[in-house]
Amino acid sequence: MSKKVIVLGEAREGALRNVSFEAIAAAKKISGGGEIVAVLLGDSVQSLATEMIHYGADRVVTVEHPHLKIYTSDGYSQAFMAVVEGESPDAVVFGHTALGKDLSPKVASKLKSGLISDVTSIEGEGSDAVFVRPIFSGKAFEKVKIKDGIDFITVRPNNIEPLAHDDSRTGDVSSVSVDIKNLRTIIKEVVRKSTEGVDLSEAKVIVAGGRGVKSEAGFEPLNELARVLGGAVGASRGACDADYCDYSLQIGQTGKVVTPDLYIAAGISGAIQHLAGMSNSKIIVAINKDSEASIFKVADYGIVGDLFEVIPMLTEEFKKM
Ligand code: FAD
Repeated sequence: MSKKVIVLGEAREGALRNVSFEAIAAAKKISGGGEIVAVLLGDSVQSLATEMIHYGADRVVTVEHPHLKIYTSDGYSQAFMAVVEGESPDAVVFGHTALGKDLSPKVASKLKSGLISDVTSIEGEGSDAVFVRPIFSGKAFEKVKIKDGIDFITVRPNNIEPLAHDDSRTGDVSSVSVDIKNLRTIIKEVVRKSTEGVDLSEAKVIVAGGRGVKSEAGFEPLNELARVLGGAVGASRGACDADYCDYSLQIGQTGKVVTPDLYIAAGISGAIQHLAGMSNSKIIVAINKDSEASIFKVADYGIVGDLFEVIPMLTEEFKKM
């Protein structure tokens, strides 16, 4: 049986995040040939609608309101609920991002539906679709299905391949007007520490440093390698706790979960809590002075050596490519 599926598109600084297109690809499998409706919320999102269609959405519904410029649970849930109630979908897909993790349980619980979070792949299609998600910090995978009600799912970034971009696709774009009221929070401004660089949770290449980096200045060779590779810099909690870098870079059980194509771990011992955030990376390269470090157990390539010698050498070699 085919299903009607809603996908929430996410934009940051005027551009759609890649996870929006991955969510459409997930929706395609769940729909089993049914309609895919993309939803865009914000103060000015109309111009992003065509891109969602080019990536596979059949139709786009926008809700524009000044209170949707910056995400709040209250504002977004009012707007999103209005669309979901109007569309009566069989399934709803979010990115497993900070926004998706906050909004999806709120909306699912209001509709008394189940939620399957952090889905990394989907087996089968339409009503046969089964959702696969990691459990126990990535040590095992479970396969889950929702028996009744709407399927609410969140998809982990960088795991589901987006559909091919097709700029010949067309689709209807409509807007819904929602009276957003009784907000308990209004965020006036978001001041980012740094707007530079690639978003860690969506990066294809991550160069991560641990306590072995030894200081804030010690991160500079890692920044340089990440720049050359077009990637992002991440860190272990050891490095964050030691104040070598900001906690926004932390990867692991209590930090970000990432799945890049290439993860370079430098001066990171490989504690289980760190592995929980990166062990599903496609290729892991570990650089550590200690040949017995646990990180080598999950690494595809291991370099036993001093990161301050190895990282500059790698950077120089990559610059030649
Ligand atoms: P260390 O364990 O000190 O390792 C440093 C490594 O650097 C060593 O292996 C050393 O051989 C190597 N080294 C030193 N100098 C060099 C050099 N010059 N060149 C090459 N290698 C060098 N940790 C996380 O990362 N993320 C989390 O989300 C997280 N959540 C946690 C949640 C809980 C509840 C708890 C209890 C812990 C959590 N931790 C987390 C902490 C985790 O247990 C480890 O303490 C932490 O990951 C260690 O960081 P590290 O590998 O950088 O440091």
